[in-house]
Amino acid sequence: MKIICIGRNYAEHAYELNNEIPEEPVFFMKPDSSLLRNNSPFYIPDWTNEVHHEIELVIKINRLGKNIEKPFAHRYYSEIGLGIDFTARDVQRKLKEKGLPWEKAKAFDQAAVISSTFLSVSKVAETGSINFKLNVNNKTVQNGDSKLMIFNFDEIITHVSKYVTLKIGDLIFTGTPAGVGAVTIGDRLEGYIEDKKLLDFMIK
Ligand code: ZN
Repeated sequence: MKIICIGRNYAEHAYELNNEIPEEPVFFMKPDSSLLRNNSPFYIPDWTNEVHHEIELVIKINRLGKNIEKPFAHRYYSEIGLGIDFTARDVQRKLKEKGLPWEKAKAFDQAAVISSTFLSVSKVAETGSINFKLNVNNKTVQNGDSKLMIFNFDEIITHVSKYVTLKIGDLIFTGTPAGVGAVTIGDRLEGYIEDKKLLDFMIK
């Protein structure tokens, strides 16, 4: 399986990193070796001083598809979970300056945290919006809603599948809202979709 991540999908977050609002979805990938599951602790690597949390809604692909047209895109996912796109921001900043790929900053081991539980999209999205948030040490630091996404789930699937075949079990991280920040040893991270706690783990 592969992990596809969408960048700059919430205007406020694009602004906080001094990025422009993209005209089409920006995507990059993480390898399956970057997965961190079951609320296992995250260990800050020794080669970075600035690992940022990015809380994101994650959709799971449930059928094989290529060149998926938008009216059919909703058929390719039925479950939604919560993830954290851990980013070594200091390393990413240097790579960006040089115009180099971001893998070192985004694809390292444990950089893709994923909830063990996924929820039915049709149930959770009944109201047309999905609210989610991240608490660090009991304080809400990121709060997002799917209705604020620049590109919605269907548009993401349509765009990405033009270039990359989607397979069963692939995960799409759909972008982070504003409020990203560095984690430190001893932090407790808790992630929620609506009032359901799906992530609860420690930084070590
Ligand atoms: Zn992200």
